[in-house]
Parts: sequence; C-alpha cells; structure tokens
Amino acid sequence: MNIPEIFGSQVFNDSAMKRMLPEETYETLKKSIAEGTGLTLDIANIVANAMKDWAIEKGATHYTHWFQPMTGVTAEKHDSFITPAGPGKIIMEFSGKELIKGEPDASSFPNGGIRATFEARGYTSWDPTSFAFIKDDTLCIPTAFYSYGGEALDKKTPLLRSVEEINKQALRIVRLFGDSEAKSVRVTVGPEQEYFLVDKDLCEKRKDLMFTGRTILGAKPPKGQEMDDHYFGAIKPRVAAFMKELDEELWKLGVLAKTEHNEAAPAQHELAPIYSDVNLATDHNQITMEVMKKTAAKHNLVCLLHEKPFLGVNGSGKHNNWSISTDTGVNLLDPGKSPQANYRFLLILSAVIKAVDEYQDLLRVTVANAGNDHRLGAAEAPPAIVSMFLGEQLTGILESIEKHEEYDEKAKTNMEVGVHVLPTFQKDTTDRNRTSPFAFTGNKFEFRMPGSSFSIAGPNTILNTIVAEELQQFADELEKSEDENFERAVRRIIRRTYREHRRIIFNGNNYSEEWVAEAKARGLSNYPTTPEAIPHFTDEKNVELFIKHSIYTEREIYSRCEILLENYCKTVNIEALTMIDMVRKEIIPAVTKYTKNISEAALAKRELIKELPLKTECELVKKLSLLTDELFEKVAALEEAVEKVSAYEDDFATKAMMYKDNVVNTMAELRCIADEIEANVSEKCWPYPTYSDLLFRI
Ligand code: ADP
Ligand code: MG
Repeated sequence: MNIPEIFGSQVFNDSAMKRMLPEETYETLKKSIAEGTGLTLDIANIVANAMKDWAIEKGATHYTHWFQPMTGVTAEKHDSFITPAGPGKIIMEFSGKELIKGEPDASSFPNGGIRATFEARGYTSWDPTSFAFIKDDTLCIPTAFYSYGGEALDKKTPLLRSVEEINKQALRIVRLFGDSEAKSVRVTVGPEQEYFLVDKDLCEKRKDLMFTGRTILGAKPPKGQEMDDHYFGAIKPRVAAFMKELDEELWKLGVLAKTEHNEAAPAQHELAPIYSDVNLATDHNQITMEVMKKTAAKHNLVCLLHEKPFLGVNGSGKHNNWSISTDTGVNLLDPGKSPQANYRFLLILSAVIKAVDEYQDLLRVTVANAGNDHRLGAAEAPPAIVSMFLGEQLTGILESIEKHEEYDEKAKTNMEVGVHVLPTFQKDTTDRNRTSPFAFTGNKFEFRMPGSSFSIAGPNTILNTIVAEELQQFADELEKSEDENFERAVRRIIRRTYREHRRIIFNGNNYSEEWVAEAKARGLSNYPTTPEAIPHFTDEKNVELFIKHSIYTEREIYSRCEILLENYCKTVNIEALTMIDMVRKEIIPAVTKYTKNISEAALAKRELIKELPLKTECELVKKLSLLTDELFEKVAALEEAVEKVSAYEDDFATKAMMYKDNVVNTMAELRCIADEIEANVSEKCWPYPTYSDLLFRI
C-alpha cells in the first residue's frame, strides 16, 4: 500500500482544489479561507461544480451538509446530484447555493427551547476552513448549523467564534512583543482517543451494552488490570487487523492517525492523531469516532466509546492537547531553552493559569455528562477538582519571579541507568504527572478531563474563550502601561497573576484523599457530578464572559444548559429502565431456575441417601433466595423512583438532581445485590456474557 498516495484521497483538499479549480478561483478561495472573508455566489458555483466533478470521479452519487448538532453525534441528510434534464433524462448537478446553504428540517434537533417546533427552519452553512470529504459514496460538506434567528444550534459555530476571539487577543500580545510578521494565531489540538473493543456477538447478548454503551450490571472478573500487562502490551491479531483497517480508512479521509496502542485496562486501546488546527481536529475526531464504530463492526467487534463501560476497570477519556501558535510557526507555549528569560511564554502561561483558576467551573461544566460522572473522581481518571500541573521547573521560575529572585537553574543532567552500552540523552527538566486534570507537557497543555464520547468542540470553545479573556486583560494593561520598561511591566503581571492564582497549581498526586481536603482549603471548586456542575454554566460571571466575547448569546447559554441537563436525565432514565428490564426479565428468572435446579438435585440426593446433610445446597439456596428477595425489593424501589422522577416536569436542574439522588443511588445499590448473585450462580446459567467473557475473549 502506498500510504502517501491514499492519504487524503477522499478529501477535497488543497491539491484536489488545485487540480479541479481554475487558477483564479483557487487563489480567491484560498485567500478567503486564510482571511476568513466570505465568498461570492459566482465563486461558490465554480467551486461546487468542481467539487461535484471530483466527487463523481470518486464514485459519489450524493452530497450532504455534515453538521454537529447538540446530540453528540454528527448529522447528515443525503441528497443526490441528479437534476431532471428534459423528458426521462437527468444530469448530475450541484450548485453554489446548495454548497453554501442548506435548510434541514431542524425542529427535531435539541435546541433547548430556542426554537419552537412550529418554527422548523434551521440553516446549515458551509465551513470552507474544513475540507469536504467522501464517506459512503456521499460528498460530505462540513457546515455550521443555526436557527432562523442566527442562534447556534451546533457545536461548531461557538468553536469558530472562540477561535476568532483568541486569535484577536493573542495577536495583540504577539505584537506587543515586537512580532510584526505573524498574521494570525491559531489554536492547535491533538485529541488522544481511548476506546474499548468487545466481541459483537457477546455484546448483542447484553441489553445494557446495546442500549446504553456500558455494563450496568456485572461482577468483577478474577483478573482485572492489576498485573499491568495490557498497557502497551503486544496487540492481539484481531485487534491489530482492526487497527490496520482503521488507520487506512482514516488516512483516506485525511486524518493524521499516528499512534495506536493498548491502554491500561484489558480490551482498552488508544488512538492519537498528529495535532492540527482545532476546527479540523474537532471534525476529524468526530470522523474518527464514526470510523472506529464502523470498522469495528466489519471485524465483528463493537467499539465502546462510553466513559465507563466496566465498573472497576479504567474508564476512557479523551486527552485534549492544546496549544497556540502563530501562522509563522512559533508555538507560543514552547518555553524554549531558557524559559526564565522567555517573557512572552511566561506571560501566556500566566494567562492560562489565571484562566483555569477563574473559570474552573466552566472547565468542569464542559466535561460533564452522565458517563463521565463514573470516571471523574474514580481512582484512575483525573478527579472532578480542576487544578493544573506545571512541574518543578516552571513552578520554580514563577516562584522566583514572585520573590524578586534570580531563578537558580538546575543543570540538565544526563540519563543514568547504569548500563553503559545504552545511548545517553539529556533528561527532561521535569517528570510527568499522570494524575493532573490539566497538565503542562513540554509545549502544550493536556486537558485530561473530557470523556471518550465527547465532542472536543465544547472543551476547546471554553479553553479558547477563557484564555482570550485573560490575554485581552493583559494586552489592555500593557498597551496602556506607562512603564517605559516593557519587561518590567510584563514581570509585574506575571508576579501578580502567580500570587493571586497559585492555588490552582498542584504538582502532587491528584488521586489522593489529602488533595480533596487541601483543594477545599484552597477554595477550589469540587462538583463531583453533572447535576452539581452544569448549573454553573449560567453563573453571572460566565454569562458575562460569553456575551463579552460573542461566544454565546444569553439565550444560547440557557438553552445549552437545558440541553445538557435534559440529556443527563434522559441518559439516567434509559439506564434505569434497562436495568429494571434486565433484573426482572433475565436475572430473577435465571436465579430462580438455578435454585430450582439445586433444590431438585438436593431432593434427589436425599431420596438416595436419607441422612445427607446437604449443606452446600441448603446454604446456597437460602443465600440466593434471600438475595433475590432483596433484589426484588430494590428493583421495585428503583421502579418507583424512576416513575416519580420522570413525572416531574418543572425544571431540568431540579429534575437532574432528583435523578442523581434517587435513581443513580438506587441503581448502585441494586447493582451490588445483582453482582453478588452473579458471583454465586453457575456461569452456565447466567443469562448474559460476564466481565471475563467481555474483557478477555477477543
Ligand atoms: P504524550 O502525551 O505522550 O507527550 P505526544 O507527544 O505524542 O504524547 O502528544 C500527544 C498529542 O499531543 C498528539 O496528538 C500530538 O500531536 C499532540 N501535540 C503535540 N504537540 C502539540 C501542539 N503544539 N499543539 C497541540 N497538540 C500537540
Ligand atoms: Mg498524552
């Protein structure tokens, strides 16, 4: 296989444009993309026609506006290129109007009350900064999606708004440092995607996996991940075949899939792409998740993107690596050889510190959903408390600036392993911290809280916005500063920021109990669950921030808040109903049958030998019967709770809290009983595949 040849072969990328477009149109299009200016209909017509010819060449018959509504998945509605051309004849056509604007009947997408169902009109509009591509014989055109009134109904629109905003503010800082060459500052993102693979036949035997993407029930297997033998372990042939095809499919779509390895848990894996502009990275991550699911099916596997498919086993996250750089290629978060003298870097670092501290709540909100509640705060993922890791060196530098001291640089040392045949290299200045939710990793920040099923649009919209806000404050201050010594003015900001926001920096173990207590003493917020986190979206300071930077209108904020809370309620409701169904229709009948078998066997034995004590049978039947009674009672309690909560209609904030306090808790109790029963029943009689089957039989 010729990888450079297949790479991007299904994408209407720069080289396809160059080949298919008249030179003049190509130049105009490129210029309008680079400068973010709109296109005339004339140009759009030429581009559309070229796109269609290119797509037909590749076997496409349909086109679709591809967009990212608030459902969590992408949406598309296919139209064919055919247009009548005289009696009984058609030609293949695609106009500029069809390219730039679509009108999906949008009333059935979540809108949080922005649009009443009778106002069905919604628009999709072409995003020329993300290339069109072909998927399943359909030309997919990345688009933004908004209402008749111009309100965003998707995840891309606010993201694009935030990109403009951080570009504007960061460019001011870059200029202040004397760079007159850079024309723009771009946000770069590389999202690492974790996922599980399970056998499709096994998966289909479990209603919980089918309906909710996670196991709602299931006893711990005798072996978990405690041996650490899966992480980076050799990849099994079936998984390797999946990964190979996944890479190829992604490469065809221009996705820079780079790293594939096993993760910590059995059956858990990771894919990391090479970073790109945040808008593209977001589209590509959506494509990646979709292609993962499709490719898995071809290998008779199911790809689970849920944050916590298995209790007691590592959950899946999506590490969002984030940085900003100029269009001339300077990474503004690169500390360089001597960070202590790199004031531009230290200033931007300070902006991030201030942003993360002041908007901890927003970062928490942006990673909140029912699935991630099982992950954040468990002893493997970052906790629900937002803090940041800078490492020894950077913390030391900020500390010394704060104290008006010279930074005493530790000399770089060579790696010492005690084996002389190994090549030697310079040690990194700081070790990594795997437990931090927001870690500086050399020349970028790694935001580790997003869950594996998330779109990265939300987290990055927030990151861009909060950093833009701080950069704006710094730029305002520096531009007005009367201090003739620019460096001194910068140092003053760095010092003040560190003093006021150092509480957010934590280089220790984020999983420890002590940290929870210390974070509280430091006044950091801690919202362990979604219903506790989401309402802070509409806190006054946050609403102000969004409006100031034109990221969301007030109506958009409230509608999003409602969508998120409603989504939580729906998810928990489905999970609870699935659980009730499995317990009533599968577990109770299975245990009853099993205890009957044992009882019958016992009676048969007694008939044979009168004086047998039948201790095992009696104890087992007794234990299982008592547990089943408990189970029966608890499932009734759950049913009652679900009925009561789901009937509540007033507001979603209260309703979500009711789900958490009454339904989620009862589900956990019910699970305990069910799992204990599973541990005491013959595997042959158990109605669905166990954890051992799912995790170890690939
Ligand atoms: P690690 O997290 O182990 O250091 P890598 O160095 O491979 O792993 O980086 C992880 C992810 O970070 C990759 O997707 C990579 O492309 C991305 N990344 C690297 N540099 C940047 C950057 N400047 N901006 C955004 N993402 C980056
Ligand atoms: Mg990483």
